[in-house]
Amino acid sequence: MNYRGRLAPTPTGYLHLGHARTFWIAQERARSAGGTLLYRNENLDSDRCKPEYTVAAIEDCRWIGLHWEGDVLHQSGRLDLYLKAFEQLKQSGYLFPCTCTRRDLENAVAAPHGEGGETIYPGTCREQTTPPEADCNWRFRVPDGEQVTFEDAHYGPQQFVAGRDFGDFPVWQKNGMPSYQLTVVVDDADQEITEVVRGADLLVSTARQLLLYRALELIAPSFYHCDLMLDAEGNRLAKRNQALSLRELRTNGKTPEEVRKRWI
Ligand code: GLU
Repeated sequence: MNYRGRLAPTPTGYLHLGHARTFWIAQERARSAGGTLLYRNENLDSDRCKPEYTVAAIEDCRWIGLHWEGDVLHQSGRLDLYLKAFEQLKQSGYLFPCTCTRRDLENAVAAPHGEGGETIYPGTCREQTTPPEADCNWRFRVPDGEQVTFEDAHYGPQQFVAGRDFGDFPVWQKNGMPSYQLTVVVDDADQEITEVVRGADLLVSTARQLLLYRALELIAPSFYHCDLMLDAEGNRLAKRNQALSLRELRTNGKTPEEVRKRWI
């Protein structure tokens, strides 16, 4: 099968050096495989995503030297596709309606913590049999104790245990919008992506997504997770910290070649 990769930024701020480095690796891997690279704008969250950041991300990617094939795909125009996958999962019994509020989850003191310290869903609504309220979240019931394994093209063999490293995760939100986990699976499958290149912060999400691929009877791509870039204080780069944004570096007169030297 021909290699197909993608760049998939979320336009909630300006792209920083870490994004650029990950995207550069994605481009290198697509090139060395003689494959195709696509660009997907993950702009579904209309509260956090801004059209000006979509424009800026495309401009900044071009400036740094990234090239992709075809038009940019915008997630905001694809709700029907996500809804179809949601209905399929719901009908197949993989989901349960969840009325827990954020506060309920925070207050579940006994709730264990998984990878990265996130709270594992305590199971409050898991066996709920009463009909769901109109507006509730829908979670994926993970197969407790199952080992989800995959071979990462950069980090090697990976193993996560469902119910221990991650819990029942949201697939559909009560505001009528799908979760990141669902959209990324639906889109990567629909765009026939063969390898996903992204930051190492998403390693455990890959385990969640592999469960979704299986439940939706879709073929999963391969994965290459990249090291995260740290700032001088050893903190992960964040969009809210402007110092190392491509925009800022460019405004300060850096050339794309100088910026690329930071990671090559
Ligand atoms: N849009 C996601 C982000 O910017 C990345 C999704 C992915 O690569 O799977 O964090």
